[in-house]
Amino acid sequence: MELIYLGTAAAEGIPGMFCQCSFCQTVRKIGGKEYRFRSGALIDGELMIDFSPDINIAAQKAQVDLSKVKNIIFTHSHHDHLNANDLKNRGEGYCYFDGQNYEKLHTYGNRTVQNVITTALKGNFDRYAVDFTYINRFMPMQIGAYTVTALPVVHGSEDSYIYLIENGKKRMLYAHDTGIMTDEVFDFLKGKRCDLVSLDCTMGYQSTEKGHMGFPANIKVKQRLLKNATADEKTVFVCHHFSHNGLRSPNGELTYDKFSEMIAPHGFIMSYDGMRVEI
Ligand SMILES: [Zn+2]
Ligand SMILES: [Zn+2]
Ligand SMILES: [Zn+2]
Repeated sequence: MELIYLGTAAAEGIPGMFCQCSFCQTVRKIGGKEYRFRSGALIDGELMIDFSPDINIAAQKAQVDLSKVKNIIFTHSHHDHLNANDLKNRGEGYCYFDGQNYEKLHTYGNRTVQNVITTALKGNFDRYAVDFTYINRFMPMQIGAYTVTALPVVHGSEDSYIYLIENGKKRMLYAHDTGIMTDEVFDFLKGKRCDLVSLDCTMGYQSTEKGHMGFPANIKVKQRLLKNATADEKTVFVCHHFSHNGLRSPNGELTYDKFSEMIAPHGFIMSYDGMRVEI
């Protein structure tokens, strides 16, 4: 399995589009890896996780062909993860499928995600060759070549999900947006060894544990997953989904190099836009 991080920032992007804080100003000076699109990822070019307002430019920069995406699983409906209006670009005149059958793009998520997509498309799913399937918590579902299990997390005012994704050979846990998971989720994950664990690190150096996480909470989750046999010494741990709030520390700006240096001794890597991880 190959995971590409298409965007690695929280809702406001990095730099925050209207922000003049010291971190965002530093980012504007340095550029490169410091720039971050809103969050999303793609597995093997076909299974997408979330669909952000930056998806088009993010796909262009990562040289990803969005017309090859078959399925999108949504974590939740927050606007940095679900940009339903861009699904309308699948309408007649906005895209051509070059003589091939116009295959439907399958979307999956909770009831709030369903409502947002339905409203954006005004219920005309066929017109945009899109369909939607409700995905229930703790119920493994076959989506293309993958078994996908939605796990409930406390984030926002809806049934937000994180996802366990497996293809028979490899397994990954994609945990955004979320605070430290509940006992129920840790129990479900017991013994299910993951090759990759991607953890919400919105709050960077801060000690947030609810709604989102900072790095100290990521360490706690890692310890619990190791104890649970959900991870071992070979599991790749990634911190992902960053906000300027957690990178503008009292001890200076936590740029990619500085944050990476801080988390490396704990066995974590920091995501950046376009990062590819092969497991
Ligand atoms: Zn988010
Ligand atoms: Zn800022
Ligand atoms: Zn969110």
